[in-house]
Formats: sequence, C-alpha cells, structure tokens
Amino acid sequence: MRALLPLLLAALALAQSSDPEAIVPTPKTPFAQPEATARPLLARAIREHMAKAPGTFGAHPAAAGFPGAVTSTERVTREIAYDPNRIHRWDVAAGNAPNLATGPESWQDTGLHAAPGEVVVIDVPALPAGRQLKVHLGCHRDNLLRLDKWTRYPLIHRSFDLKVGRNEVANAFGGLILVQVLGDPKAKAPAAGPLRVSNAVAAPIYRLGEDTPESWARALAAPGPWATLAGKRAVLHVQTAAARKLADPRELLEHWDRILEVQDDLVGLERLAPERVVPDIQISAGWMHSGYPFMCHLRPSQAHMLDLARLRREGDWGFFHELGHNHQRRDWTFDGQVEVTVNWFSLICMEQLVGKPLGQGHPSMRDLDGLLRARFGTPANLGPFEQLAPFVALARQHGWEPLRRTLRSYKDAPSEAAGAKDPAARQDLFVRRYGAFAQADVADLFAAMGYAVTAATRAELSKFPRVTVPHAPEPAAR
Ligand SMILES: [Zn+2]
Repeated sequence: MRALLPLLLAALALAQSSDPEAIVPTPKTPFAQPEATARPLLARAIREHMAKAPGTFGAHPAAAGFPGAVTSTERVTREIAYDPNRIHRWDVAAGNAPNLATGPESWQDTGLHAAPGEVVVIDVPALPAGRQLKVHLGCHRDNLLRLDKWTRYPLIHRSFDLKVGRNEVANAFGGLILVQVLGDPKAKAPAAGPLRVSNAVAAPIYRLGEDTPESWARALAAPGPWATLAGKRAVLHVQTAAARKLADPRELLEHWDRILEVQDDLVGLERLAPERVVPDIQISAGWMHSGYPFMCHLRPSQAHMLDLARLRREGDWGFFHELGHNHQRRDWTFDGQVEVTVNWFSLICMEQLVGKPLGQGHPSMRDLDGLLRARFGTPANLGPFEQLAPFVALARQHGWEPLRRTLRSYKDAPSEAAGAKDPAARQDLFVRRYGAFAQADVADLFAAMGYAVTAATRAELSKFPRVTVPHAPEPAAR
C-alpha cells in the first residue's frame, strides 16, 4: 500500500499541472512540461481551454504577465473601417512572390485591444462581395507547445470568423484586435461599411502619413497595454510603456519602411501591405524568427526596434535577416541554402542603410578569405557564412546588380514558365541568368558550389570572360 502513495502524488501533480488555469509561467517561475507521453493530453487541455465559447470564461491568471493586464475600466465603441481589397501583402500570382518562409496574408490594425476574458461585440453590417472576415485577438500566433519550458503561456491568440450581424468574441489573454479579409484579390469588392466594435479598450496607434506628434501624444493617453506603429511597409507592435519614449515615430517608421524598400527592391517585389514585427517574452524558435508577424524577444529587441540612432549606426542583422526570410523563394533558395540566400538581404541592408563595406555587417563575415578557404576545402564547410562567401566575392567583382537583376527576373519569368521544374533545372536557370547579367562565365564556379549546370548553359556563358573566386577549385581539379 505504501508504494501507492508516491504514484498517487505523481498523478495528482500531473492532474494539477495539466489544469490550464493553473499554468501561470513567468520568466522567474517557468513551467516545465511533463514527460513526453503526458504532453499530448496537456496540449489538448490547453487547446480546449482556448476554444471555449466567449462569455463562458474570464481572464486567465497568466494574462497579466503577458500580453499584460488592462488596468483601466474605460471601454469604447468605435466604427472601424477596413480595406476589403487588402488581402495579401503581395500579388501571389507574381513570379517573385515570396513562398518559402511566410504566407502572404495581411491583417489590418484597429487601434483597439480586447481586455483579457472580456466579450468584445463586433457588429458587421454586411460582407463585401466575395469576402470573408476574420478577427484576431492578439497580434501574433506564436505557439510554444513544442518547447520543454515556458516562460509565458504557450497559446495566447484567438481568431474568429465574423458573420453578418452581432458577433461576440473573447480571448482569456486579451490582445490587440486585428481584422483580416479573405477572398480572391483579383475580384475587387466595394466596401460594405465599417465594423462597429463595442466593449473594446482603446490602444495607442500611430499611422505614418496621417498622425502628427500632437495626435500621437493624444493617442498615448489610451489605456491599451500594446501600441501599434504603422508605417507603409512595416508595422511595429510594442508595449505602450516603451512606445511612450517616442515623441514622434515618423523618422523611425520611415527608416523601417526604407529597410523593406531595400529588400523589396532586391527581388522587385511590389508590396501591397506591410510586414509586421512583435516582441514577446518567449518565442517558438531561435533568437528571432521569420513569418507574419516576425517574432523577436522583448529583451533586448523591443528597445532595438525603437532605437533609430542604433538602427542607423549599427543596423540590426537579426531584423534584416528575418525580413530577408520573408522575401525568399524556392526558385533560388536550394537545399541547404535557407540560411544562405537570406543573408543577401542582410548584407545589402548593412551596406545601403548602415554604410558597411560590401559583404560586412556580421562578425562571422570579417574573414572572407578564411570563409572561402573553408567553403572550398576538403571536406567543404557548408556553414551559412561559408556558403555566403562566394556570393560576396562575386559581388566584389560585379556589384550586387547581376544578383538583383537575376532575382527580379523571376517576377515576369518564373522558373516554371522557363520550363525549370525540378531543383537541378532551377539551379541551372539561376546560373544562366546570373552569368548573363554579370556578363561572366560563372559555370565552373557555380558547379564548384554544387549547382547543377547543363552543357547548354556552359555553352551560352562561354562567350563571356571566365570568372572565379579565391580558393574555388579549377575544373581540372574536380
Ligand atoms: Zn534564419
């Protein structure tokens, strides 16, 4: 009998730890997930708890830690206009549309926040023709269920489909309210009247081109715990306490827009709606990660998002890198290159916006010669910076223009249209285009970098001078 007691206690502890209301992780008191076999049950309990009908639950006790409590009792009713034709961040049919690290969807800001657990009422007068509407409570969907330890609750976002008439929505964690339009962007829809949102918390919002330092000062009086800084190409979400330090967000947002402009230009992307960035206590992967929104840590990245002097002086490799991921395409990012082609974007931002010499901006890029030696050594080092090095060496010979023209060429002539369906054919196409734009025979070099190069491409590029980079093997040596 005595042997049963520890078992019973363990079962009790497990039952307690899988009660979603009892999980209140903080950075000081993280929640350690149970052993692997118990995790699916816990994940299911959490998902069920986060799917309860609005009005049947209150604030989760962990909401005060993140995304934060709403201390004011003031609630507002507002008419919220939205653009029925803003569906994607780019034309998904374009041959240069990013398709590797992020989806194309776009959310629209409201400057409103749902208080944790409280029912927000959204009256929808009508749906635009051919459109569905969704509301997001919480400005990101980052999910920590896969991680061993949580310093915030693993799921804090909810979304609801909106129907014509009265909609009641709620999230035990609360969060910024965003609207999403779904439908076929090719069929334009006239507006169907604003949404009427009641029992919401006003949150500070600054829209570049519309707001002034005076209107921003007034906006900052709103009690919502998260602020929205909306540029044309980038939207930043930060805690209101951090946003208060900005007297005028204009130049900061212009700079963020410029970052996106440089990156969009590299691939010829016509941007229809901004990227989005959110800092959090804990994120699902890495130091930052790409996606919509792209995620980073509150400490230190929230301060860095807002520090214009630092962005100008040092740049931010991590921000440039994650936004770079959001531009990648499978036409020119091959196996093992996800962390390689992304840094074309980081390097160009470092060069054009920060003034670093070509190929610099990350400590790992200091010794280009050493990287090239390792890249082409035996065995070859295929680390991300080693693989990046030959592109930098090429850019030092030709500038970035041949690469830029190559990437932009996919807009009107994607691989599929050029008949390049499998990876080998796409590699060959990339080499042929790069060589033609650089007016250089790069066939041997790219072959040494592991690209498939056909005899036809070799023949076509053979009319140009042959170029190579230090430490790349000569053809006879391969
Ligand atoms: Zn990465």
